[in-house]
Amino acid sequence: MTTSGLHYTVSVPDPDSHHCEVGLRIPDAAALGDRIEVAMAAWCPGSYLVRDYARFVRDLRAEGPDGAALPVTKVTKQRWRIDRNGADEVVVRYRVYGHELTVRTCHIDDSHAFLHGPAIYLYVDALRDRPHEVALRPPEGRDWAVHIGLPKHGDGGHRAANLDELLDCPVHMGEVDVYELTAGGSPARLVVWGGFDADGVAGMDQLTADLATIVDTHTERFGGPPYDDYTFMLMLAPGAYGGLEHRSSSANLNTPYAMATKNDYLDLLELLSHEFFHVWNGKRIYPAGLTPFRYDAEQYTRCLWVMEGLTSYYDRHTLRTAGLMPVARYLEKLAADQLRLAYTPGRAEHSLEESSFDAWIKLYQATELNANSTVSYYLKGGLVSLAMDFEIRRRTEGTHSLEDVLRQLWSDYGAKALPYPEAVQPVFEKATGIGMGEFFDRFIRGRQDPDLTVELATAGLELRTTFDAPQIADGTELPWLGIAIKHGTRVTTVLDGSPAAAAGVSPRDELIAVNRRRVRTDSGLRKRLALRRPGDRVELALFREGRLHELEVELAASPPTRVEIAGIAAPSAAQKAFYAAWLGEEHPCSDAVIAGFTSYRYL
Ligand SMILES: [Zn+2]
Repeated sequence: MTTSGLHYTVSVPDPDSHHCEVGLRIPDAAALGDRIEVAMAAWCPGSYLVRDYARFVRDLRAEGPDGAALPVTKVTKQRWRIDRNGADEVVVRYRVYGHELTVRTCHIDDSHAFLHGPAIYLYVDALRDRPHEVALRPPEGRDWAVHIGLPKHGDGGHRAANLDELLDCPVHMGEVDVYELTAGGSPARLVVWGGFDADGVAGMDQLTADLATIVDTHTERFGGPPYDDYTFMLMLAPGAYGGLEHRSSSANLNTPYAMATKNDYLDLLELLSHEFFHVWNGKRIYPAGLTPFRYDAEQYTRCLWVMEGLTSYYDRHTLRTAGLMPVARYLEKLAADQLRLAYTPGRAEHSLEESSFDAWIKLYQATELNANSTVSYYLKGGLVSLAMDFEIRRRTEGTHSLEDVLRQLWSDYGAKALPYPEAVQPVFEKATGIGMGEFFDRFIRGRQDPDLTVELATAGLELRTTFDAPQIADGTELPWLGIAIKHGTRVTTVLDGSPAAAAGVSPRDELIAVNRRRVRTDSGLRKRLALRRPGDRVELALFREGRLHELEVELAASPPTRVEIAGIAAPSAAQKAFYAAWLGEEHPCSDAVIAGFTSYRYL
């Protein structure tokens, strides 16, 4: 078969070895000069960390059409130079090791092969706009189904229009269960590997029905499916969690116990809803800073809050308005987000734009400094999206909402395959007809927190920042140090401005005693502290780099550990209308607490 495009063969002859074998045939090689460079991606769109996929490439060699070996020289950590020696067609062969079960790495074992595009395909810069074809070969003698978000082409192959599309299409081969979804107007399916442990609160009929509702709701919002065919790849393994969006598929990880409780199940739906929403926001609606993709080094945008913040708001809000998530659970998760944000001192150091820009060195690289030096554009981005939705609804008297911005981004940019400008504020203003300079100055370019108490009052809801009931039952305040601990009593984070920071407690210290009494566990430490009062001085003993240290700490009062959201007894007509338009059901007209969330993450 001759073609002007590149042709890959990906086979998994021995999955137990955790390797796949890749062959790349480069046609018309003479046009590329005497030497051809092939490269492996350093990172993948949607996940902002240099992962150096070349780490897992082995036994790379090149040959001409007659099978004669061609000289190969490695020129950078991820780039190889091949001397063509006059050959007009070059074939590169290599193996890739994959034994890490995440949505952005390869995982190959005796039951399946999940192959992440940027981790398996070498590319040729000069040919990236040509068609890229791939033939996928599961191991012989095994009943493995093959799934990839690319149209079939030729004899058992698939064809991508260009390199970007190829890299955006993960491959899943393996023992899977497939559920076709009748939804969204184009074929879609759920492919499950690993299997749920049991049906629990839902079962597969429920899951496929709810997923169809999610697909329909997101698709209706944007006026139809922009894909021909869509695959939810869902891999289940204990302790697994994560998702990565693609244009015609998504890779999702969860646990086999995801249907054990209603809340676990709703979290699974939220994950699938999130990745599917990216079909538009993220994959087709994307900022200028990320185009064209360059796979060999970091690429910068200040707009990840648009991609992830708006998506974090609508993944869950859609579950509510589609009737899949009860109001109480929706507001409980909102309360949890509010509390998490309050416990992030780094929100004073990074705006949403700054946190987007620095994702490479902050959000994607967990360090002991992160809580103090950055804020998640998912977390704060979701809350700011809510505030923005409320602002738009308020100022336009309910004629517009944040959804109009999404539709504007789609019609002006996504549908036309154009990136939106990094200075995106005018798009928000065009969609809503209101000036948003002050809002962007405060919450997007600036570092202010959205005031959810004020926002929710518009909907006839009262947000209270308070304390967990057992904490205040006897009228006493809980003392606190301002640290997070893990693995027994090992300090992982010391919050800026906390008593622990003032006393010199450091990340990685191992606390061993309070007032000379031994502590071994998180709960043990909490009990010792609960016997003290704010203002008390306690002696902490700890090991630091193997040496014993003793410090005196003056305990402060614990900041609030609980956020509650209650109704109000007599909402105005405007509040009732706002509530119904936002949450899709009637205001309860009661001041009972609807939802609350408690966190003792820091002590
Ligand atoms: Zn996302």
